[in-house]
Amino acid sequence: MRGHNTGPFPYPRALLVRAMALMWTAGGAMVLVCTVLPHPPGMVVGTVVTTGVLALVVGAAAFAAGARFPSWVFPATCFVGTWMITVTVVAGGGGTASVSFSLLYVWVVIHSLLFFSRPVALFQCAAAAAAYGVAHQWLGTLGAVEPLLLAGTLAVAAAVVAGLEHARDAASVDPLTRTSNRRGLDHVLEREMERARTDGWPLTVGMLDIDHFKQVNDRHGHEAGDRLLTQAVECWQGRLRPGDSISRFGGDEFVVVLPRTTPSEGRQIIERLRADLPGAVTFSAGVAAWLPHDSMSMLLSRVDAVLYEAKRGGRDRTVVNGDDDSAVRALSAAIRGGEFVVFHQPTVSLRTGRITGFEALVRWQHPERGLLPPSEFIPLAEDSGLIVQLGEFVLDRACRDARGWLDRFPDEPAKVSVNVSGRQLDDPGFTDAVACALRDSGLPARLLTIEVTETVLAASLPSWAERLWDVRRLGVQLAMDDFGTGYSSLNQLRRLPFGVIKVDRSFVEDLPDSPEAAALVDAMVGIGRALGLAVVAEGVETAEQLAYVRGAGCDEAQGFLLGRPAPADVAARLLERQSLPAAAHAPGDHSGDRAAAHAG
Ligand code: C2E
Ligand code: MG
Ligand code: MG
Repeated sequence: MRGHNTGPFPYPRALLVRAMALMWTAGGAMVLVCTVLPHPPGMVVGTVVTTGVLALVVGAAAFAAGARFPSWVFPATCFVGTWMITVTVVAGGGGTASVSFSLLYVWVVIHSLLFFSRPVALFQCAAAAAAYGVAHQWLGTLGAVEPLLLAGTLAVAAAVVAGLEHARDAASVDPLTRTSNRRGLDHVLEREMERARTDGWPLTVGMLDIDHFKQVNDRHGHEAGDRLLTQAVECWQGRLRPGDSISRFGGDEFVVVLPRTTPSEGRQIIERLRADLPGAVTFSAGVAAWLPHDSMSMLLSRVDAVLYEAKRGGRDRTVVNGDDDSAVRALSAAIRGGEFVVFHQPTVSLRTGRITGFEALVRWQHPERGLLPPSEFIPLAEDSGLIVQLGEFVLDRACRDARGWLDRFPDEPAKVSVNVSGRQLDDPGFTDAVACALRDSGLPARLLTIEVTETVLAASLPSWAERLWDVRRLGVQLAMDDFGTGYSSLNQLRRLPFGVIKVDRSFVEDLPDSPEAAALVDAMVGIGRALGLAVVAEGVETAEQLAYVRGAGCDEAQGFLLGRPAPADVAARLLERQSLPAAAHAPGDHSGDRAAAHAG
């Protein structure tokens, strides 16, 4: 709705600039032509030529600048134009030329009424009327007829334009709530999208739907429904900022357009709209940001889709498009609620065939979806920063489990490996967290290994290197995980205190048939040897693979053939079985038992 919450320009800026440029160039050209045609003797040609040329320059500049014109320039130029017309009228000499030049005021009136907000338009029209009066007072040469005709023309033009504008507004207004209707929303969105495009500010749109509105209509009648809608709109209008706008999209659906607002700010604004609603009225809301290249319908359909999600999620809530907030909240609650468990997968010595330790692998025991692997939640945990909290839990749990094994089987201490992501190494508290986990569990530092994947190290920051050294100084072992999948690892192996490399599963997978995989595994073992590092083969699934990696000179192996990841008590049972005299072994009752049988 024009003048209400819609800012100064109800039209796209490009149209405004083009109209302005056309008026200035046409005006300038016509004035200049008048000076070369036969004209009344009283005309001060020099002044008229000057204003004509100036007008041409302004017009050309406007054409060239296009939509880049800042907003304040439009009313300012209009005001300056009014006084340039006045100078031209006076320079016309008071005869028919002055009267003809006075016609140019009509443009000022039409332009300002069409393109400016009502107060600015009234000011511009008043300025034009005053300028007109001053000019003809100054000249004092005109009779009664000409001013009357001109003033009348001006007034009628103003009335007609204002009337058309009013009709246009009326067609865009919802009669019940007095907000924009769908057509008005089109105007608002078109304008705001264009502004966002030229100014580069964010633009966010929300769609609100009153919960159970149909029941209000059915139970209490349409009048009650109408009353509810008007009351809700009144509340909302009182809480929106100047420049925001609300439109009735249809029925009980409303669209709020929030210029210069990010989606998360949009969520806050919409949450504020929940206060003071009459009775127990609630609403569901969807929020989405306008993206460059979005058409209006693309934007609205995205908002509509998240509104649907909000309704499906139980109503009385706001869902933001592309926002993982709810997933992050669920993850955070699960960490606090103790829904994560740590599984352990054995690593086996290829010389002795005995279990040397376990890799701790986290799982989410989801109440509805069951046991979830790390690929389902680690990426979100990393993006949201929750990995720091989750990582500390895993570290703590793993150290306690390992301490438990040590207490029961002190003759053959089992190591434990914990995976950490880049985000954890970013955290200045990482070294302390490791030290705390060791101290609280009583696990000797030499039994803990920290695994960092090679791809993480490719983007290594100096602070990470520092932190890895600090951890190493605690006595903890460092392993480069998924070796062979990154690119900068050789250099990192030289600079950082790694003691172990874990050959990535993707190489072991193709053994022994692929000569390339075999050559690469051999090369990696060679690198390990040369640098004095232990080499672990990951993902060993077949006896042939196991035979190959043993023959190639790997120190340890890990994989489904030797034992799947399993809870800590299963790990303890494997150690227990291993500690018994060989005769007591009962082969085949657990996959992990195969460790000794195969690898030994
Ligand atoms: P990873 O560190 O390379 O761990 C080995 C992954 O390979 C594990 O998958 C394991 O179950 C799987 N695996 C082991 N042997 C075999 C085999 O013979 N065949 C096949 N096909 N797979 C095998 P999982 O548990 O799904 O973990 C995936 C990745 O998630 C891990 O790769 C690790 O990078 C990450 N991750 C696991 N736990 C944590 C954690 O606590 N913190 C962090 N930051 N990352 C973790
Ligand atoms: Mg690992
Ligand atoms: Mg790995």
